[in-house]
Amino acid sequence: MTELQLHKLLKGVQKPGRYTGGELNSVVKNKDEVDVRFAFCFPDTYEIGMSHLGMKILYALLNDMDGVWCERVFAPWVDMEQNLRREGMGVYALESLDDIAQFDIIGFTLQYELCYTNMLHMLDLSGIPLYSKDRHSLHNLVVAGGPCTCNAEPFADFVDVAFLGEGEEQMVQFVQLYKEYKANGADKQSFLKAAAQIRGVYVPSLYTVSYHPDGTVEAVTAESGAPLPIQKYIIQDLDTAFYPKDFVVPYIEVVHDRAVEEVFRGCIRGCRFCQAGMIYRPVREKSWETVSKQAKCLCDATGYEEISLSSLSTSDYSQLEPLLNDMLEWTQKDQVNISLPSLRIDTFSPELLEKISRVRKSGLTFAPEAGSQRMRDVINKNLDEDVILQSCETAFRGGHCNVKLYFMLGLPTETLEDIEAIGQLGQKIVDRFYAMPDKPKGRGVQVSISLATFVPKPHTPFQWMAQDKLQTIRDKQRHLVESLTTRKISVSWHESQTSVLEAVFARGDRRLSKVLYRAHELGCKFDSWHECFDMHKWKQAFADCGLSIEFYANRERSYEEVLPWDHLDYGITKGFLKRENERAKAAQTTKNCREQCAGCGANRLLRGGTCFENC
Ligand code: SF4
Repeated sequence: MTELQLHKLLKGVQKPGRYTGGELNSVVKNKDEVDVRFAFCFPDTYEIGMSHLGMKILYALLNDMDGVWCERVFAPWVDMEQNLRREGMGVYALESLDDIAQFDIIGFTLQYELCYTNMLHMLDLSGIPLYSKDRHSLHNLVVAGGPCTCNAEPFADFVDVAFLGEGEEQMVQFVQLYKEYKANGADKQSFLKAAAQIRGVYVPSLYTVSYHPDGTVEAVTAESGAPLPIQKYIIQDLDTAFYPKDFVVPYIEVVHDRAVEEVFRGCIRGCRFCQAGMIYRPVREKSWETVSKQAKCLCDATGYEEISLSSLSTSDYSQLEPLLNDMLEWTQKDQVNISLPSLRIDTFSPELLEKISRVRKSGLTFAPEAGSQRMRDVINKNLDEDVILQSCETAFRGGHCNVKLYFMLGLPTETLEDIEAIGQLGQKIVDRFYAMPDKPKGRGVQVSISLATFVPKPHTPFQWMAQDKLQTIRDKQRHLVESLTTRKISVSWHESQTSVLEAVFARGDRRLSKVLYRAHELGCKFDSWHECFDMHKWKQAFADCGLSIEFYANRERSYEEVLPWDHLDYGITKGFLKRENERAKAAQTTKNCREQCAGCGANRLLRGGTCFENC
């Protein structure tokens, strides 16, 4: 595309900065000198995609490879799509402004089930056949990674390859192999058979799924020597793993516009609803020296004045104290703020608060997830009410007056008393504030309760459970609001209809590919955006395909049922998940990994045995 064409294309478009490229640290190579062109597609807007750490890591990693050029592609918003159609153009990459149809590999990162239609939408705009079986050459190979591939079945018919697990090393092996096969003029099928031998590379077309008459999966069988099960790829040592030295710095405001340093992967906690806490096991930490060094390098290269220390639960980082001490030295000198997202409420010590307050003071967010102790035990949150109240008081003493609390509705075994307990907990926090003799003068407290709808996810102890029906969730939301007695507490929630679809596609089977295709034909896209989401179209798509939403979302599965993702091995064993499911039903908690190993099985992909010496 020429500059002139780009200008024409951007006329009348909201936020043209989404579509121009040319940002600091973006990588431009001479396309005549590269062997493999990789379009890294984020199937959502620029602002969301540019905040995504995985994309930053793989973009830098691929561009570090000889003869490989990776470019960024984001889903064009509705107005830009109209202009692209008007001009007869497809989705293009921001570095070269070339249509993705010109690329060797078109890779999607799938972070959320409601992005699936955007993958189809982007391919379709560029005239690339949607079904894998209709793309015959090695050119335009469509691959997908990200957490959603832990059940790749609903989109299995569209992708040639799904990457299971962590991408840094498997991606290098995969692209090297592609380079060799392309240079030799090999055909797509022989490449896919060879690629399937790389750890974590799942080639859906090499597996056949059969079904029972009731629609449940009967069996999955492998062809052409493809492995069964397919094991995820896991990085052994984060200190030596690739990490970017710089990030592309956007011109326009994006969701998280700051440097991000990952401090560890995995989670010791074992919350039973949490897919990330299961599929990224076991915990692997970077040393504090590596974290501080990489963080400084990123800030220097980007000019960012904020660095986020990222992980699933940063306060569980065992070297937080020496890390913060070291980082405070250079961040204060360079006037860089440190932010610590995903703090766990029970590790919120006065010392930690003091350190955070020295660098950044803002509203506090905690995620008790459930209001009653019984419910928190069911989900294995391992968090007592006293600890929550004490942590809030510590925060109030530190000058914070706004507390945001995240909860889930529709958790397994939930009763109306559990729901009322959410409001009661909010009330106790309000009361704790006013009972403090030295509360901040002239300031009131505000407790914001944010409600999500529980979505049972694959590879978690709740993978067998039913999701509440939509009307039940709505009744529960209303019940909670009606149980509140003070305006110091506010309640908000997300649209539950999208949670229903999330539940369907999270645990769906391969037959759902045709529903996705039909939904795409009906115009579904940007389904996570309320202004675009249309449940009527989705209902029609399911009806047209003869499949039922309730079968996937609201049905409890038996332990004997073959689950659509059983052949995708994320380390944790089904035996462990069953044990945890039974303990949940009995409201029994399980200790965190540092206190006692629960024998989840994840460490067999690393070095075997338990993860911590004292277990
Ligand atoms: S093997 Fe044990 S310590 Fe390691 S992640 Fe699993 S439960 Fe936790």
